[in-house]
Amino acid sequence: MREEMKIIKFGGKSLANGQGIENVISIIKNKVNLKEKIIIVLSARGNATDCLELILDKAKNGEDYAVEWKAFKEYQIEPNKNIDYHKEFTLLEKTFEGVKLVEDYSLKVKDLVLAQGELLAAKMIASLLNQNGIKSNSIDSRDFLKTNDNFGNAQIIEKLSKTNTVNWYNAFDEETIPIVTGFITSNKNNQTTTLGRNGSNYSASLIAKYLNASEVQNYTHIDGIYTANPDYVSDAKIIEQLNFNEASELASFGASILHAKTIIPLVEKNIPLRILNTYNPNATGTLINNKITDKEVKSISVQNEIGFINIEGKGLLGKKGIDARIFSTMNQNKISVSVISQGSSERSIGFIISEKDIKTAVNALKIEFQAEIQTKDISSIISKKEVSVITIIGQNINNFSSSFNALIKNNIDILLINNTLNGNNIGLVIDNKNVNKAINVIHSQIFGISKNINIAIFGKGTVGGALINQILNSKNKILKRKEINLNIFAIAGSKKILLNKEGISNKWKEEYDKAPNNNKSITDIIEFAQKYHFENLIAIDNTASTTFIDNYIPLAENGFDLISSNKIANTQSYLSYKKLRESLKKNNKNYLYETNVGAGLPLIDTINILHASGENITRIKGVFSGSLSFIFNHFSESESSFSDILQQAIDKGLTEPDPREDLCGNDVARKLLILARELDLQNEFNEIKIHNLIPTFLQDESAQDFLSRIEELNPVYQKIKEDQKEKHVLRYIGDLSGDLQKNKGSLEVKLISVPEKSSLGQLNNADSIFEIYTESYGDNPIVIQGAGAGAEVTARGVFGDLLRITERK
Ligand code: ASP
Ligand code: MG
Repeated sequence: MREEMKIIKFGGKSLANGQGIENVISIIKNKVNLKEKIIIVLSARGNATDCLELILDKAKNGEDYAVEWKAFKEYQIEPNKNIDYHKEFTLLEKTFEGVKLVEDYSLKVKDLVLAQGELLAAKMIASLLNQNGIKSNSIDSRDFLKTNDNFGNAQIIEKLSKTNTVNWYNAFDEETIPIVTGFITSNKNNQTTTLGRNGSNYSASLIAKYLNASEVQNYTHIDGIYTANPDYVSDAKIIEQLNFNEASELASFGASILHAKTIIPLVEKNIPLRILNTYNPNATGTLINNKITDKEVKSISVQNEIGFINIEGKGLLGKKGIDARIFSTMNQNKISVSVISQGSSERSIGFIISEKDIKTAVNALKIEFQAEIQTKDISSIISKKEVSVITIIGQNINNFSSSFNALIKNNIDILLINNTLNGNNIGLVIDNKNVNKAINVIHSQIFGISKNINIAIFGKGTVGGALINQILNSKNKILKRKEINLNIFAIAGSKKILLNKEGISNKWKEEYDKAPNNNKSITDIIEFAQKYHFENLIAIDNTASTTFIDNYIPLAENGFDLISSNKIANTQSYLSYKKLRESLKKNNKNYLYETNVGAGLPLIDTINILHASGENITRIKGVFSGSLSFIFNHFSESESSFSDILQQAIDKGLTEPDPREDLCGNDVARKLLILARELDLQNEFNEIKIHNLIPTFLQDESAQDFLSRIEELNPVYQKIKEDQKEKHVLRYIGDLSGDLQKNKGSLEVKLISVPEKSSLGQLNNADSIFEIYTESYGDNPIVIQGAGAGAEVTARGVFGDLLRITERK
């Protein structure tokens, strides 16, 4: 035997016309130049096998197949038009005609037809190599790989095949590269048999085993074996090394490039298998060998076209032999059962079969359990199509809880859960519509790969815009530090919505301005998220809209957690307030709005913690409005007139464009109501006693007229200021008092006079202050004080809510 020989196998997609076949030739050339000893094993090119099967079926049904046949021939000769395929093409043509005539074919005929695909491929590659100055010869594996008569899935006759293969190779010219057909074999009568679909990998392993090859290289069209199908999971990673055991597990759970059968010959002789990519020949790929590492290899695979049957009934409780009867019923109908799981109460038994067998299975079960159905021991036999099995390989049930929780949080129902006997694999049966999302959720849990948080931001004004920029600026740091990927996939303004599945960029403003008005609605955003199977959805309302809140419940129902700097939802009627809470609870969704009161100050959070811990809050009092804080702090201290101070506040952008929106007290009242409701009080907005700071004669003027007449406020406030006791200052406060253990509290918004030295009296600038009085702290309130307004701080507060929700995921 010659030393260090490698088997190089190329799959059908690798051998496709164009880039594929070109790369194959150059890969072989490189190896020859490096003086590597190689045997090439090929499968049919492109989807030749499928095409041949299709033509056979058309012929059998008496249909015309001329178009397909012509296309097949053209495809096969394309890389070298001078090639002589006369023999193969004539055989196929004659056979198809015959099949059309008798309208039938046997598995034997089918094997002969399919075998031509590999024969054509070997001829083609040998011809191209020879054209490139590399001496090579196409080799028909039927001459040495011998099988029984089981056409379509023949069993290899080991001893004979081995002797034949060794003899063939020893007689073969050492200077020539053998290009061997995979997949095809023959029986003792020299009739063509095949090793089953995808069998050329098995051929390569067998030849490797018989000739003691040092390695098998399987050139595919992917970079190697991934932690999950990269079509589903964009974060999927290549597994660099797997041992044979792990590889067989993967193979049996649907990794399409591996077959358990292929691995067995390699295990016997300890021949490593490398999975490589024809289209990316420099990638390291996946190496499968006998090395056992302590790292638990985990990967996720999916089996589709699965059906699910569930048998339920109190009569199943503790009854022996039910499982056996189910299995034997399935067995009699040649249906294989793959996952079975029994509820701990034993009141239901669920299992998985192939989707196409559902009808037969249900009918058979109804007959088998006729008696039990009649006595109502079995109440139902339900079937469900369009489900998939997700298998997590190398996952122990004990550490599965984080994935499990993440699935629940993402509203993914698990129909059945099962762990295998060795406890190393977990199977989940999941509705097809959730599969993609489920794999992503599990994948990021078990591989610790960054969690994707998909965010839709409504409102791009001062707060909205600041938030978007803050997120984009911190994105990389958060990704590094917390492995959380904050992906803003939607920005919605009043006229248009910007959608981008990769996440919007720093240039979002320009992109938004350039985008046409697109009349897109919230439904488009929901559909977009569904289309791309986005997990961990968050909607942020930074609008001041009174109608946008109608979207909160639909958003929650469609999997979005909610964050809002908009106060409307929390100050609407108590009934609507309650309804939103109920929907959130039902849908398992969060709703955070820390910035509703005191902007970024951690007020709502603190109140919540106190309240939840059973601490009785007896009163909340403070200056809740940044603009009114500024106005009265300065007015109390300085000699300036009220209108001068008001003008300063306007100029600094502290007030709303029409300052009466601040002066009327409604904003403070809203904040007060929000705090009250945090304490489970059921007050309504119209129950709040509000001292409106605008005198009646200025209440109904236009904004412009009002702004030109602000000096008329001066006598009113000058008098109030002068009427105070000495060393007292004016403060405009919200005050929640009464018996807060009851359903309703007393809510007042008012202008008061307080001692300069009191904590309210010492307030500066535009700061807010909140005094929280509780039973255990008595007269000493917990005081939270600081900048309680401004776009940047508010955006920061919203960002805080975002991270809070993210951490719960
Ligand atoms: N050409 C055969 C098939 O498509 C064998 C193979 O590709 O491995 O099944
Ligand atoms: Mg706050």
